[in-house]
Amino acid sequence: MAGGTPKTMEVPRTTVTLADGRALTYFGTIPERPADYPDRRQLPAPDVQARARWDSLVSEWVVIASHRQERTFQPAEDQCPLCPSTAASLTEIPAPEYDVVVFENRFPAYSGTAGDQPGQPGQLGQPREPGQPGLLAARPAVGRCEVICFSQHHLASFADLSSGQAATVMAAWADRSAELARLPGVEQVYCFENRGAEIGVTLSHPHGQIYAYPYITPRTDRMLAACASYRHGTGRSLFDDVLAAERADGSRIVLAGRHWTAFVPFAAHWPYEVHLYPNERVPDLAALAPAARAEFCELYLDLLRRFDRLFDGPAPYISAWHQAPVRHRGGDFALHLELFTIRRAPGKLKYLAGSESGMGAFANDITPEAAAMRLRQLG
Ligand SMILES: [Zn+2]
Repeated sequence: MAGGTPKTMEVPRTTVTLADGRALTYFGTIPERPADYPDRRQLPAPDVQARARWDSLVSEWVVIASHRQERTFQPAEDQCPLCPSTAASLTEIPAPEYDVVVFENRFPAYSGTAGDQPGQPGQLGQPREPGQPGLLAARPAVGRCEVICFSQHHLASFADLSSGQAATVMAAWADRSAELARLPGVEQVYCFENRGAEIGVTLSHPHGQIYAYPYITPRTDRMLAACASYRHGTGRSLFDDVLAAERADGSRIVLAGRHWTAFVPFAAHWPYEVHLYPNERVPDLAALAPAARAEFCELYLDLLRRFDRLFDGPAPYISAWHQAPVRHRGGDFALHLELFTIRRAPGKLKYLAGSESGMGAFANDITPEAAAMRLRQLG
């Protein structure tokens, strides 16, 4: 693998099996004897029938997963499925306390492995050209969807974590990314957090998700094409040059550490959007050196706290890790994180309206330089 051997941080972990056969892994504080905390619930086996259909007009897969309509939506706090279990309430996490846990989503958009289910791309249609799925092509949506709980405290947020707790989350992200990348049929692993009811989060407990896709996602596909074209034209790495250009310009830098640079991108799509790049390009989380992981936790917590000071309440945000797809680790794609909020002012959200949703054409009414200055001043 390019980027060297995965450098796994020394965080204790142990894996158990939930009542319906799903796996759950504790990271950090682990039950000394997990058998003392079995999952006592009666759960039917997950009913998963997701399929991916090919949209031939825009060359994208779309997952059709009707079972997800039944998933839990904003339960009362004492019914939260992500809090630790108590005598009165049996949750997804059997133990009475935890630091960080990861488990398979009960309502996944992607599940199973390539060998489990019949059907391959293009099976239902006539290919138009080699390697291109045909019209009306569908395939099983194999892959994995996992939930990662950042804290056992229901009312906490990621920004409330200590850097030690954030490091445990970081270790869990790296561990899961490396493991899911090894599943047959998985092409890309994506760790992300949606925060805030405005983003459509169905559970307020601090948590994120990890998706293992059976294909390369549209946005990543475009970035790979941009990298290839830039390499072809200049002989250089696009990600390296973007970072160098931002550092040389300086007007959009929010935070600069020894190992990371946080900046508002030159053509930001969102009112407040920050990209975090490691100063030394690596393909994925598993390839990050320990010192870079440690510094990331400090910078990221600082950034999240600045986001929370932007408005009169916690900022709704999406935080997205971009990692090189499984079969592109040796190329130019660089690990980075993209953090953005859809809030542009107190009480005002940027909705994806006609131009953005209908045409994918973005307009942003806050200049990236003004956004960067505001975020610098909130330190
Ligand atoms: Zn909770």
